[in-house]
Amino acid sequence: MSVNSKLYEGKAKILYATDDPEVLLADFKDDATAFNAQKRGSIIGKGKINCSISSQLFQQLELRGIKTHFIDSPAPHQMRVRAVKIFPLEVVVRNIAAGSLSQQTKLPVGTLLKQPLVEFYYKNDELGDPLLTRDRLLLLELATPEQVDTITNLALQVNQFLQDFWQQCGITLVDFKLEFGLDSQQQLLLADEISPDTCRLWNTAEADPNLRVMDKDRFRRDLGNVEDAYQEVLQRVLQAVASKN
Ligand code: UDP
Repeated sequence: MSVNSKLYEGKAKILYATDDPEVLLADFKDDATAFNAQKRGSIIGKGKINCSISSQLFQQLELRGIKTHFIDSPAPHQMRVRAVKIFPLEVVVRNIAAGSLSQQTKLPVGTLLKQPLVEFYYKNDELGDPLLTRDRLLLLELATPEQVDTITNLALQVNQFLQDFWQQCGITLVDFKLEFGLDSQQQLLLADEISPDTCRLWNTAEADPNLRVMDKDRFRRDLGNVEDAYQEVLQRVLQAVASKN
């Protein structure tokens, strides 16, 4: 596979074209940003860790019939993916109140939700990724009503799998963000990544609200030991996958 020009550089990944127009190469970076890139830093080893965790999770999801953009991982920090046109939506699924949900509603952090909450945010840095209503999403023609329904169903299926998977890792899945896209045949695929950058993950055996955090909140909130937490998540993922085979 020959790698061609850089197509796009985001906050956490660089996308390269390949000799096949249907295939892109995603290079995961150690760079970390938070609060709409107002806070910047780097988490040593994050690129490899997030690429490895995402690769494992995408493969597990594929085994369960969920179509993703994942093709393979030619190097620990690189993933070959199907080229998709990304919906400008951040699809957030929540099982436990935290983050912006708690800040905006006063629902105490840690409140168990009676059923998973699926939310859509407008992927737009200039606007600060605002929360969308379904009607606003349709008004802006960010997706069709059928696509919104399909994405909602897929997000709930992914949540069912992930809740179970992270539980096997001794990790409680609080919330996470997904992105979806359409390939050249208009197939709707799960895209982007699933990692401690995009999920809130709490060590189930740990009650202390700071010590239990195993995700990017350690970076956001300056809790320390960020690298160790990411590494620990990867080890648990690899163990859980190995025990399935
Ligand atoms: N999230 C993300 N990228 C974003 C915003 C949120 O991956 O640009 C993830 C975040 O890590 C968390 C979930 O989506 O797992 C819900 O985030 P929330 O809306 O609570 O926002 P935050 O507290 O991160 O500002």
